[in-house]
Amino acid sequence: MRRLAIDGGDPMFPHGVPFVRPPAPPLDEVVARLRPTYEQGAMTNGPLVRELEAAVADRMGVAHVVAVSSCTTGLILALAGLRHLDGLEGPVLMPSFTFSAGPHSVAWNDLGVRFAECDPLSFQLDLVDAHARLDGAGAIMATHVFGAPCRPEQVEALGAEAGIPVLFDAAHGFGGRRAGRPLGGFGEVEVFSMTPTKPLVAGEGGLVCTDRADLAEYLHLAREYGNPGDYDTRFVGLNGRLSEMHAAVALASIEHIDEHLATRRRMAARFSDAILGIPGVRVQAIDEGDESTFKDFTIAVDALEYGADRDTLVSVLRAEGVDTRNYFDPPVHRQRSHATRSPADLPVTDAVARTVVSLPLYPALDDATIDGIVELIAAAPQANA
Ligand SMILES: *Cc1c(COP(=O)(O)O)cnc(C)c1O
Repeated sequence: MRRLAIDGGDPMFPHGVPFVRPPAPPLDEVVARLRPTYEQGAMTNGPLVRELEAAVADRMGVAHVVAVSSCTTGLILALAGLRHLDGLEGPVLMPSFTFSAGPHSVAWNDLGVRFAECDPLSFQLDLVDAHARLDGAGAIMATHVFGAPCRPEQVEALGAEAGIPVLFDAAHGFGGRRAGRPLGGFGEVEVFSMTPTKPLVAGEGGLVCTDRADLAEYLHLAREYGNPGDYDTRFVGLNGRLSEMHAAVALASIEHIDEHLATRRRMAARFSDAILGIPGVRVQAIDEGDESTFKDFTIAVDALEYGADRDTLVSVLRAEGVDTRNYFDPPVHRQRSHATRSPADLPVTDAVARTVVSLPLYPALDDATIDGIVELIAAAPQANA
């Protein structure tokens, strides 16, 4: 067996395996899309943004898509809309095992955050724990963690039981499907992200999907300072517009998204099949019949059974040139931004956060690299360092 780099051997990947490579579309395709409107002087929130919104609404089967400058902005404005239209006020029930932007969007609305546990196998919002914490909540915001559907119809049922709206942080979810149904159409609203690490890229940008005409109308104003055009602002909005340049990148990306997702799924299956054979290491559990985007391919290690803890595995991989991310560690309730304002006792989430690591996954990785990473995972417990 080869000597691990952490023990002084030569690294398996001397040039390094980056964690992520944005699935950016070919530049000439972006320029071709952008040129006509650009030359007419349309720079922001113009014809390409309209075209993008229509294309996504069609694809997701939703009545309204409102493009905004980021997913964070979209979540902030969607919550603001529910406050404005429906009088939403109570705390928002959500997982702590997610990216900070979701809880931040609640805090920006001066609403309380009420954290719930995640499921240790799927890493998704634990619906039983969420149910136990439902009393008095004003809304539920669940994340499709790593692009796998979070049983959205069951989250909807929780919301219906309490009579409160459900939102989905679908930042990872563009192109994912729950039992055949595209993500984007669940709950009151779903919000996708188009930053470079997400399945559909625009550089920056967010897509708010909703079937509610009143919410869409609110969002159209909200992304324009609250100004319908007469400069008599109806409420306090902000500049949440998406630029035409970003819309051009997004439109070009959509042309490639299905092929791109098929590649990610094929690579994830190769990883999963091989990892199955390593004791103490498991992959994120995804319901049969669901399709993840594999925005991240995330494994969890049981230190006792595996023979090494997550941090050792990360160190071994780093020494070999493999870049990874500990998503989501620390979980949001442990982050300084939320620890005191939304304290929570979440032992399952803490335990999951300590054991997870996301591996590189993007079309430029070849099968030999995937197999090499798996070989390193299998060998890591033998590290002496
Ligand atoms: C990236 C991300 C966001 C934020 O998206 P932006 O477009 O960067 O604002 C929100 N939620 C999750 C789960 C994310 O991963």
